[in-house]
Amino acid sequence: MSTTTDTKYVYRFGNGRSEGNRHQKSLLGGKGANLNEMSGIGLPIPPGYTITTEACRYYVDHDGDWPAGMETQVQDGIQHLEEAMDRRFGDPENPLLVSVRSGAALSMPGMMDTVLNLGINDKVAAGFADATGNERLAYDAYRRFIDMFGDVVVGIDRSRFENAITKLKEERGVESDVELTAADLRDLVDRYKAIYRKATGRMFPDDPYKQLHLAINAVFGSWTNDRAVRYRQINDITGLKGTAVNVQAMVYGNMSNNSATGVCFTRDPGTGENDLYGEFLVNAQGEDVVAGIRTPRDISEMQKLMPSIYDELQEVCDHLEEHYGDMQDLEFTVEEGTLYILQTRDGKRTGPAALTIATDMVDEGLVNKDHAVKKLVEPGHLEQLLHPQFETGVDYEDDVLGEGLPASPGAAVGRVVFTAEDAENWNDDGEDVILVRVETSPEDVGGMDAAEGILTSRGGMTSHAAVVARGWGKPCVAGCDDIVVNYDQKSFTNGEITVQEGDWISINGSTGEVVLGKQPLRDPELSGEFSRFMSWADEFRTMAVRTNADTGPDAHQALDFGAEGIGLCRTEHMFFGEERITEMRRMILSESADEEQAALEALLPYQRTDFADIFRAMDGHPVTIRLLDPPLHEFLPDANADGEVEELAEQLDLAPEVIREKLRSHEEFNPMLGHRGCRLGVTQPAITQMQARALFEAALDVQAEGVDVQPEVMVPLVSTVGEFRHQKQVIEDTVNTVFETRNDSVDYQIGTMIEVPRAALQADQIATIADFFSFGTNDLTQMTFGYSRDDAGTFLPHYVETEILEKDPFQALDRNGVGELVEMGTERGRSAAPGLKVGICGEHGGEPSSVYFCYEADLDYVSCSPYRVPVARLAAAQAALVNAEKNEPTAPPSGNGAAA
Ligand code: PEP
Ligand code: MG
Repeated sequence: MSTTTDTKYVYRFGNGRSEGNRHQKSLLGGKGANLNEMSGIGLPIPPGYTITTEACRYYVDHDGDWPAGMETQVQDGIQHLEEAMDRRFGDPENPLLVSVRSGAALSMPGMMDTVLNLGINDKVAAGFADATGNERLAYDAYRRFIDMFGDVVVGIDRSRFENAITKLKEERGVESDVELTAADLRDLVDRYKAIYRKATGRMFPDDPYKQLHLAINAVFGSWTNDRAVRYRQINDITGLKGTAVNVQAMVYGNMSNNSATGVCFTRDPGTGENDLYGEFLVNAQGEDVVAGIRTPRDISEMQKLMPSIYDELQEVCDHLEEHYGDMQDLEFTVEEGTLYILQTRDGKRTGPAALTIATDMVDEGLVNKDHAVKKLVEPGHLEQLLHPQFETGVDYEDDVLGEGLPASPGAAVGRVVFTAEDAENWNDDGEDVILVRVETSPEDVGGMDAAEGILTSRGGMTSHAAVVARGWGKPCVAGCDDIVVNYDQKSFTNGEITVQEGDWISINGSTGEVVLGKQPLRDPELSGEFSRFMSWADEFRTMAVRTNADTGPDAHQALDFGAEGIGLCRTEHMFFGEERITEMRRMILSESADEEQAALEALLPYQRTDFADIFRAMDGHPVTIRLLDPPLHEFLPDANADGEVEELAEQLDLAPEVIREKLRSHEEFNPMLGHRGCRLGVTQPAITQMQARALFEAALDVQAEGVDVQPEVMVPLVSTVGEFRHQKQVIEDTVNTVFETRNDSVDYQIGTMIEVPRAALQADQIATIADFFSFGTNDLTQMTFGYSRDDAGTFLPHYVETEILEKDPFQALDRNGVGELVEMGTERGRSAAPGLKVGICGEHGGEPSSVYFCYEADLDYVSCSPYRVPVARLAAAQAALVNAEKNEPTAPPSGNGAAA
């Protein structure tokens, strides 16, 4: 860095000029760059200047000296302000007051030192009171200045000033600051000065230039204070030169009745309607709006009260939208009939508003489609559109019973029941219910289906309740350990409030909240804008989006949402239901191959029908069907539950004791690491044979109806190539028999899930005989971290709170660990089988940051539950657009994105 007297340290902005712009954040800091930008596009902002981060660096490196030439530039800067405001710094007749603020290239909250009303002293305060005819305003500004200067510049403990004002209020017998008179505030100024003198042994500095010099030094110095250094360490912020300093003219919305202050969105953030939306207060400062002391007026009233200002504001808003290509949220002040914009940023908005704004802005020619897709709608906005939500504006904070994981988005209201059976019975009687369980199991699916929503006190983002609820688009809060469920009493409690069976509760599966009573809900609405916007997203998307669906209706739903195939059909759900489960249990508990075969024969037609439904629904799209995966005990009754064993004994014509003995023999200490997945198929190939037969008979039947059937058989939980080879052989033998018997055939593929870390490591071996890979990141996360996916809810929230983990890895894919296995598995797989088709079917396939990762890892598709398909489509489109931007002007690279 050269430091000649010619070096430019001060960048002036305002009054129609700007010496910097928004791309100079490292030199001017974020705030300074934005102020320069706003001024550069002609916005009426209070004039000012930014002192560069390089000047700060010099100050830090030279023991508090300013670089040569800076002093003059700072003074010239003040002259620029004086001209722009037609006021003079330190002139009691017509005073100019300024603010001094820090602002680094990256936002560092907690370090942002600010001094307001600088340039004031006794004479200036008196002149300010005269000039404005507002004595109170002048002395309020003065006492605030001493307080801030004392704190920021010389480090006086703020509580000393606070105690002084509290004491004065007591003496005057008033409650709030606003009740203090001008005379009171003048008195307070004297008291504050005494505090300053006592603390520093010096008089409060009267000279405005001295005040300015000290304030600039204080802001420069704050760069190296302990707080800031620590903040940068914690947040890994390196490579910055220092902080910039922004000196800006003060403007007052509380100067007179021709002054005002307000906040405004350029469009309605609730609906997206293209009308100014906001509120303002006449003769007030920003703090009054925030403090809620006075009720602000709707911005539309400004049209009558200050018509020309309103028109000017509208023009500014139009200009801002055109410049930033987005709806803006701004703060403004009107001082004596002059409008000043203090700040602007992209406005937060609801899902419906996001879509309306995006499509309107394209229609209005303000932005193009790729900008709309990349920037104007977030994946989370789409979730709001697909599910009911709590009505906005209703305050329910006091009724929150607890918070769990936001396992499946949307809100639901119902009466509490504690068993799946009750859920079904109450639902048959026309009641809306919320099923509350410690955790759910496949046996509960009937009741889960009947319920409006599901609440569990245990389990994580991939627990049974979460996975099933997401699949159906049903709201679910999982793992809410704020509550304790008591099945015997049919109640749950959060320690303070006990909720009984039949009481009303509301759950919000988008936030994890559990609320007592009936919250008003807002229904989802899928407008024409939705499909229009989604078709734009698809234009830019390069990665396919499939769905995880187990039934024909789910498959149809997913197709409506734009799914391009099924990436995971979990066949285990097909074994529930009264007759099926009995046959399943007969098969599991059979003692001879004949018995087993007979039970499987009974199950086969059910499977065939289910598969046929799915193939029909997915005409022309690939369907990945996974062989049986869960540990078999999940299909068996609970040996301790009343009457269940007896009932099964009767159905199977066996003695209850025999059943109990058999149940004991199926117990496993660690079922998720036990006899499940392909290990079942290896030890009981008859199960694989039955499933493969049902699958291919269904495929041929449906193909004969003229449907384009594209079956893909998927083997779960493979960890060695030998397992896969074994299962592949069983499947192929079965297929060949079906083809021969039917004298017909269909194209098909056989692939495997990669969900055991060893499979990712051995991917090159496995790929030599697999047609495709699908990463099962639920199990892969479970096994990579060694966290049980069903129990991790007891400690993961703590890990996230204490920042041991950034996010729940069952929710958002862990890029560093699990992600590396995905990249490695893909790379190794494709090194042996170039062009190998690779997808993901774990729950991460519908989570935006994970979808983004999958794009970078060069996966061919993601697969997620039907209601997350639109979210995945948008996230995949955004990933492609951001990547294209990164690689501009050259074309995107074609490598597979694997890590080193
Ligand atoms: C997985 O493990 O990621 C997966 C999709 O399978 P499941 O959730 O059924 O174990
Ligand atoms: Mg799995």
